[in-house]
Amino acid sequence: MLANCWMGKKDVRVQNVPDPQILNDRDAIIRVTKTAICGSDLHLYNGFVPGMQRGDILGHEFMGEVVDVGKGVKNLRAGDRVVVPFPIACGACNACKHELYSACENSNPNAWMAEKLWGHSSGGFFGYSHLVGGFAGGQAQYVRVPFADVGPMKVPDSLSDEQVLFLTDIFPTGYMGAEMCGIRPGDVVAVWGCGPVGQLAIVSAYLLGAERVIAIDRFEYRLRMAPDKAGAETINYEEVSVLETLKEMTAGRGPDACIDAVGMEAHGHLPMYAYDRAKQAMKLETDRPIALREAILACRNGGTVSVVGVYGGFIDKFPMGAVVNRSLTIRSGQTPAHRYLRPLLERIERGEVDPSFIITHRMPLESAAEGFSLFVDKEDDCMKVVLEA
Ligand code: NAD
Ligand code: ZN
Ligand code: ZN
Repeated sequence: MLANCWMGKKDVRVQNVPDPQILNDRDAIIRVTKTAICGSDLHLYNGFVPGMQRGDILGHEFMGEVVDVGKGVKNLRAGDRVVVPFPIACGACNACKHELYSACENSNPNAWMAEKLWGHSSGGFFGYSHLVGGFAGGQAQYVRVPFADVGPMKVPDSLSDEQVLFLTDIFPTGYMGAEMCGIRPGDVVAVWGCGPVGQLAIVSAYLLGAERVIAIDRFEYRLRMAPDKAGAETINYEEVSVLETLKEMTAGRGPDACIDAVGMEAHGHLPMYAYDRAKQAMKLETDRPIALREAILACRNGGTVSVVGVYGGFIDKFPMGAVVNRSLTIRSGQTPAHRYLRPLLERIERGEVDPSFIITHRMPLESAAEGFSLFVDKEDDCMKVVLEA
């Protein structure tokens, strides 16, 4: 089959690889119909996630048709059309019982590696480095889905692939970002990053009752989509001081909640940006927490900072004093997407939201390298690339 393989920093190639096989009773094999490139894939592409090996198959946002199931999978059969959440979860461990599927205690066979970095391991994820299991991803014609009796959800024929594809990751992620804010009527929510996750966080904040959402980025086309498609007010961080502007917009108090939808590769102004770039290059910090620092400083006293942007390791100049002295709450997580599949599918079915509005590029799987290049450089007004397998 064809699959998009990580071949090194900024080098992905679609090549021929062996077809996946059923290895365990609870596996299924899915023929992928649609798959997407995630902002998280860019962290792998840019070489910021440890544990990648040449030839690893990328991709964790995918859907398709079941072609084979192991003996232990009773809820699926060949021909079913399913979306597959990006974390791999056993459904029975302590984490899964608490619906923390992304922290499954049984799905990362390389837990020892993750424990060295994080103290404890997360669950396994598709196509996301050997640190989280080394599972082959879904930017491929076929993919093996472990614990297929727990993850995949059948989707109704009345909805198109594009309408349901983002249930696999970024819609639940944007939604969780808003949910963690504990939004109350009248709340103002600020969102750093107007990428796909940021856009879906804005939409979700309104669904959950925010009165105003203010979105921050520097790309004009992304700052246009935020009001046009998601209803946010916007700030271009290259033109004004974000902290001052947010104060002016919120009677001096700051937003009630701040969502970091940027993560470890934030861009910023000199000299802080130069500082973080240099420290990251010298491996003295792994991540550039520029948006996160700003979100913490901007948040009103007693407010919540919700972090869905991905961080890999260690950060510098973390404003802990602001957190303690101003009673802030920080919440975060890799999204336990399983938990959100059904409720968010229902929102799509009711017509409350159609996450496909973020798609700007559609191309065959064979063009994955071009898709990565457009998305990473934000060229051709690229917001979200969907690959057809
Ligand atoms: P993206 O690269 O398209 O978007 C990131 C945006 O942040 C860009 O538009 C960029 O201009 C903007 N940005 C950079 N620096 C900024 C700053 N200082 N202030 C404001 N905006 C800034 O990526 P995406 O697909 O939207 O993903 C965003 C983040 O969400 C990534 O870190 C990704 O790994 C993460 N993510 C997390 C989960 C999860 O489970 N927690 C799931 C999916 C994606
Ligand atoms: Zn993702
Ligand atoms: Zn589990």
